[in-house]
This record gives sequence, C-alpha cells and structure tokens, in this order.
Amino acid sequence: ATHVTVIGGGLAGSEAAWQVARRGVPVRLYEMRPVKSTPAHHTGNLAELVCSNSLRGAQLDQAPGLLKEEMRRLGSLIMEAADASAIPAGSALAVDREEFSRRVTEAIENHPLIEVVREEVTEPPAEGPVIIATGPLTSDALSAWIRAFTGEEYLAFFDAAAPIVTYESLDLSKLFRASRYGKGSGDDYLNSPMTREEYEAFWKALVEAEKHVPHDFEQGLFFEGCLPIEEMARRGPDTLRYGPLKPVGLVDPRTGREPYAVVQLRRDNRYGTLYNLVGFQTSLKWGEQKRVFRMIPGLENAEFARYGVMHRNTFICSPKILHPTMQTRKRPDLFFAGQITGVEGYIESAATGIVAGINAARLVRGEEPVAFPPETAHGALTRYITEAHPDHFQPMNIAFGLLPPLERRVRDPRRRKLLMAERALAALERFAPARLPETAPGAVPA
Ligand code: FAD
Repeated sequence: ATHVTVIGGGLAGSEAAWQVARRGVPVRLYEMRPVKSTPAHHTGNLAELVCSNSLRGAQLDQAPGLLKEEMRRLGSLIMEAADASAIPAGSALAVDREEFSRRVTEAIENHPLIEVVREEVTEPPAEGPVIIATGPLTSDALSAWIRAFTGEEYLAFFDAAAPIVTYESLDLSKLFRASRYGKGSGDDYLNSPMTREEYEAFWKALVEAEKHVPHDFEQGLFFEGCLPIEEMARRGPDTLRYGPLKPVGLVDPRTGREPYAVVQLRRDNRYGTLYNLVGFQTSLKWGEQKRVFRMIPGLENAEFARYGVMHRNTFICSPKILHPTMQTRKRPDLFFAGQITGVEGYIESAATGIVAGINAARLVRGEEPVAFPPETAHGALTRYITEAHPDHFQPMNIAFGLLPPLERRVRDPRRRKLLMAERALAALERFAPARLPETAPGAVPA
C-alpha cells in the first residue's frame, strides 16, 4: 500500500488523516460536504462542531481532561486547534467554533501529504488501508454498504442508552445482589427495592421531569419496545411495575419478600466499576436525570459516568466488529473511527481517530498495529467499546470507571483520579508507538 484513504472529514477523520500524514504516509481524505450535507451540519468546514462548543472538562481529575491531555501528547490536531481557539469557560474547555474548524480545515488542506476530495463515498475502495469515520449521520448509501459488511444486526441507527453510574458511588447497604428467579451467578445485578411510597414519589417526579426536545430529523424515531422510561411512566402509575421495575422473582434477603418495585442495575464493565440502570433509556435533561434517578434507594449520591440519551446515531456493534486497534476483524486493512464505533462525544471521536490513524500508518510502514495500554484513557476507551457485552452495547463517554482500578485503595475520589491520570500519562510515555517514528519518509514536522 502507498497511502491511506480516510472517509469522513469530521472530528475523527480529520484527526486520523493528520496522524497518518505526521508519520510520512500520504492520505486521501473524502468529505461529502459541502456537496452533500447531513441534517446536523451547516458548513463545508472539516471538524464542524454540530452542537455545543464545549469539549468538556479541562482538569486532570476529570476523565475528559485526561483524554485531552493524552491527545495533546499524541500531537493531536483537534487539540492544537482547540487550545488555539479556546474561550473562557471555567473548568471546561470551550472553543470559538468558527475559528476551531477553520484552523483544522486549513491545517489539513495545507498539508502536502493530504489530498482532500469533496465527494460522497458510497463504498470504500478495495485497496486499503481505509478508515471509515463518517459519524452518527453517515450517508444512506454508505450505511447500506456498512450494514452488508457488518451484518444487519450489528449496525444501529439510533441510541437508546440508559445511564451508567459508578459502583463506588452506590450505597450498598440499600441494595441487594440477585438475578431474577435466582438465574445465573447473581453477581451481575444489584437491585434497589422500593416501598410503595418511594415508588409513587419516584413515578411522580419522573412524569414531571423536563425532557430534551428532539431535532426535526429525530421525530418519530422511537417505537414500542424501546420507549423512554418517562414515556412508559406517563402511560399510567403502574406501567413501570409491570415493565423495567417489576419485582417478580427478586426476593429481598432482608425481608424475605418481593418488594413493591425494584430497579435493577447491571454490571457494565470487566472491572465491575460501572453499573447500568436496566431499562432506563431516557430523553430527560442531564440535570433532571441526576435529580430524579438519585431518588432511587442506594443512588442518593450516584455519580453518573454516562447519562441516558435517545438520539439518532449510526453505530456498529464494535464488540463484534473491531479489535482495540480499530481494525475490523473481517478485513484487517479496514478501520473504523469516531462516533460510528460507539464512542460518544467530540473528543472521544477524535481520540479513536488518533488510534486508527497511527495504526493505519503502521500498516503502510510495514509495522504491526497496536492496542493502546489499558491504563491510558485511549486504551481504556478502545478496549471498552471492543470488549463490552455485544447484547447490551451502547455508546460510551470516557470515564475513570473504564480504567483498571488502582492497586491500592485510595479513599479520596479526587486524589484517586489524579493518581489514575498520572499512571495513564506515565504509561503513554512508555508506549513507543505513540511517538513519531524516527524515519518517516517525507514526514513534515507538524
Ligand atoms: P462527524 O463529525 O459527524 O464527521 C463525519 C463526517 O463524515 C461528516 O463531516 C460528514 O459530512 C461526513 N460523511 C458522512 N457520510 C459520508 C460519506 N458517505 N462520504 C463522505 N463523507 C461522509 N458530541 C459532543 O461531545 N457534544 C455535543 O454537543 C454533541 N452534539 C451532537 C448533536 C447532534 C445532533 C449529533 C448527531 C451528535 C452530537 N454529538 C455531540 C456527538 C458526536 O460527538 C458528534 O457527532 C461528532 O461530530 C462525532 O465525530 P465524528 O468524526 O465521528 O463524526
């Protein structure tokens, strides 16, 4: 192979193209805008931010802060442009969106090893390496190709994700471990029993809580069987007790009886540090989720690693399709990157673009693709999306709960996060593929 093809010039594709070119390998980057747009983009710029102008937390004890610091150390174009166009936003990193995407566009278009082609791709070229980074609103024609490649059941067109909370933030004295009817080991579920009073207060708060307003292109997306929890609640005071909060087969060992209602939490990751609220897909505003779901016994101080969302989103079932190198299992010279891999968020998308870009360049240079160390935020995120349970796979933000726990127990949460961040940056420092190769033929210093 002589070059890498990148399809999609969004957050992930721009970053992937940049990382390939930094390694001296030529890139052809296809972007369909402005010739053809998506329902959310407004310009022809690369890396357009479609909604908020915030790249979230900037501090090292915030997981997005750690991910961004790793990106900087990996020579990220997205971070270079973001830092150069930052505007004051407290402890978050917010950018001037025009300036941000203009900087990315100029850097990519001016790079001598990158050719930008403004054209919709309906099928990836047979000659690799190819990186597909066409985002949550991938065009219909390419979506059809991807569906045929992955198999119909492994490409989704919307998220209906339930919130995920951290294990350490739960009050275990109020929860009990059991699976329904005692099936399975019982270790995978935590149950929150509710009295009638608790249930009724929760139901009332749920039906009155404030929702996100869907975009025009998202109207009518949800159907029976995948209703938001608040919609289900709105159908009557008892619907939830016959749905996700049904108590049958769940005996509280402290009373020897089935409670009035039960919220189930399912273990969500390998380390057991994250739990998913079963059946709680929701379009409530994030602040409302925090307020209402903290009424669930045992969740009074719950820390949300990811809030529930319901929105239009094209994504593959990465646990079935990808390696943590971002290569597909079926075709090692075909990579995916960005939101389409089941990461959630601007910086998460760009970060997977870095991993795919480094590995696609390695293929061209005759080197083995590599998975990032699990202690790094990049490694933890790419491992989560490729190792999660395929049956329950939902898009994920970066969170400290994705990283392996520290070997010794540290009580203070802020200190623990800082230690994990320190460990991550040290692991990245030791990880040779993160550095630019010494012999990058035709490499242009960034
Ligand atoms: P994109 O940035 O969308 O890039 C994909 C690119 O591929 C686009 O430029 C598109 O034009 C192009 N493309 C698509 N199909 C083809 C094709 N066949 N051929 C050639 N080019 C093609 N995340 C946040 O962190 N904060 C937010 O506020 C936020 N708001 C969002 C709002 C909406 C409405 C949506 C849909 C998503 C939002 N996200 C948000 C999620 C996500 O972070 C962004 O969608 C992010 O842009 C994803 O990066 P990406 O590179 O994977 O995809």
